Amino acid sequence: DNLYGVNHWGGDYFSINSCGDVVINNPHDGDVHPISIMKIIEGMQDRELQMPVLLRFENILDQSISKLNETFQQVINKVGYQNKYQGVYPIKVNQQAQIVEEIAQFGARYNHGFEVGSKAEMIAALSTIEATDSLIICNGYKDQEFIELGLEAIKLGYKCFFVIETLTELPIIVERSQALNIRPHLGVRAKMTSQISGHWGATSGERSVFGLNSNQLIKAVDYLKQHAMLDCLELLHCHLGSQIPNIRDIRGGVVEACRYYADLCNEGAALAYIDLGGGLAVDYTGRQSASGQSRNYSLTEYCEDIVDTIKATLDQQGLPHPVIVTESGRATVAYTSVLLFNVLDVVDFEPESLPQASDNEHQLLKNMREIFTYMKPQRVQECYNDAQYYRDEVRELFKRGQIDLRMRSVAETLYFSILHEIKNTLATMERMPQELAGLADSLADIYYGNFSLFQSLPDSWAIDQLFPIVPIHRLNEEPTRRAMLADITCDCDGKIEKFVVDQKVEKTLPLHSVEQDQEYYLGVFLVGAYQETLGDLHNLFGDTNVVSVRLNADSSFEFVKEVHGDTIEDVLSYVEYQPHEIKTRFRNKVEAAVREGKISARERQHMIKTFNASMQGYTYYEKEEAETQQN
Ligand code: PLP
Repeated sequence: DNLYGVNHWGGDYFSINSCGDVVINNPHDGDVHPISIMKIIEGMQDRELQMPVLLRFENILDQSISKLNETFQQVINKVGYQNKYQGVYPIKVNQQAQIVEEIAQFGARYNHGFEVGSKAEMIAALSTIEATDSLIICNGYKDQEFIELGLEAIKLGYKCFFVIETLTELPIIVERSQALNIRPHLGVRAKMTSQISGHWGATSGERSVFGLNSNQLIKAVDYLKQHAMLDCLELLHCHLGSQIPNIRDIRGGVVEACRYYADLCNEGAALAYIDLGGGLAVDYTGRQSASGQSRNYSLTEYCEDIVDTIKATLDQQGLPHPVIVTESGRATVAYTSVLLFNVLDVVDFEPESLPQASDNEHQLLKNMREIFTYMKPQRVQECYNDAQYYRDEVRELFKRGQIDLRMRSVAETLYFSILHEIKNTLATMERMPQELAGLADSLADIYYGNFSLFQSLPDSWAIDQLFPIVPIHRLNEEPTRRAMLADITCDCDGKIEKFVVDQKVEKTLPLHSVEQDQEYYLGVFLVGAYQETLGDLHNLFGDTNVVSVRLNADSSFEFVKEVHGDTIEDVLSYVEYQPHEIKTRFRNKVEAAVREGKISARERQHMIKTFNASMQGYTYYEKEEAETQQN
């Protein structure tokens, strides 16, 4: 496990069983009932669901909502906090209907509501929310229509808050509420000056694009006072940032939020809710560190720091304790989804066996062969310099036509053999020359995976997000290869060259050797947050198949949902092609070929059938059996 760190980032949800499979743990009545992901893959095969597949675990979503709510409740009881916790899920983190519906269902017993940032998200929340006591928090820029939707929600009995992000929306809210004769629930978003470290720190600090500064907060208070609506100002919103790795930043941010809270109360606002936004981090690397894509705290510590700080700060001011709201997104949904894909091909850079030297071999090749005779730790850099020099000379002579292709190929083979010999020598050395530090990585294999980075792991490409990547079987075998991963788009950016291995960030991943026709499955974990809808149609690879499973108490599981991924016809229509027209145009071309005698009538039938079947097919690499079955 150390190599892949499953027990470090797996959050009790994932581990490895004695057969070497990654398992999902299903705690029930004090017992854990592990289920091998390989077993779930077998079930997918029975259903003819091709890789890649996004696998979702319903139970994880249920557990993460329970853990968040119950941990806050335990801490509240422990410290004698005189109010409650009420969370909301920010829909933007994963808007898929199934996820939002499950959150509404599992969250109902805690009155866990939704945070929305647009009219579309508002409609998704309103149509899905189950408990009327749950909150709907409206952030983002709000036009008249958005505001009317929120006011209607209030009329239906929902506690829907408009969080004022800019002063321009205030008159619209006041005007619409008065026109519809509804008292709105209002919040203000304060611009935080506490600077947060980590990847998403830019959402905090003075230059943050969100929220009102102190001058604007006072203007908002005065405006509401003039319109006799200061009693509607019930909530203070302070989002410190997403994925905050350092707990000390969270504590500092909460202190600042409490200062705003206390002074707004003193200004006459009827505050009763403090909303601290998102920020509860996911330990993607499993390193429990205060930097990078990790976190240096537990969920209990997070809850304790928030509850303690609010209590201590407001007690000093003699203010009643507010309802604590957080908008945890990634910590709620990240664990629930795993991207599974199969390896299609492996390219290794092992040297071929060395060709025999001919009597009249070119001097440059002779020089290259000689390098092996002085290969030793003390001269390893010299060997590298020489190999580099002779190889470049050969390339030059090839360009000038003085060396033929066959000779150049011998030189390349010699060059690779020398590099491998250097790599082996370096492995015996305690310290190596700096220039050669990356040599092993540059000789690593390339494993081609059946997935699109742009569609399924956009943050890996766009912002260097690390996700734990693990073979989901064969983990009782020593992985003997080192590899980088390439996807099946034909884009040179479609690769992963950053992995967490044995608690360190490395350029290559240890993997098992794969024989031709042998199935080898990898899982990319913690992809439930942001990845699904941020992905795009690069090379027209569409949505993957999605499978949702529910784990039962007796170590069995059931498939609760299967959503087939996009067909080729689907993705073409997303970019404005008309599938019917495409088929007609192809048919016309084939008819013309028959008329011109290029193909027979029988071939015509076959071509049209294959073309139409392709239009209905999966956009990813399909296994032959399935192709045959489809045809
Ligand atoms: N709330 C707001 C206003 C946000 O902007 C975000 C994300 O940036 C979140 C909540 C979710 O944050 P996280 O995913 O860190 O919980």
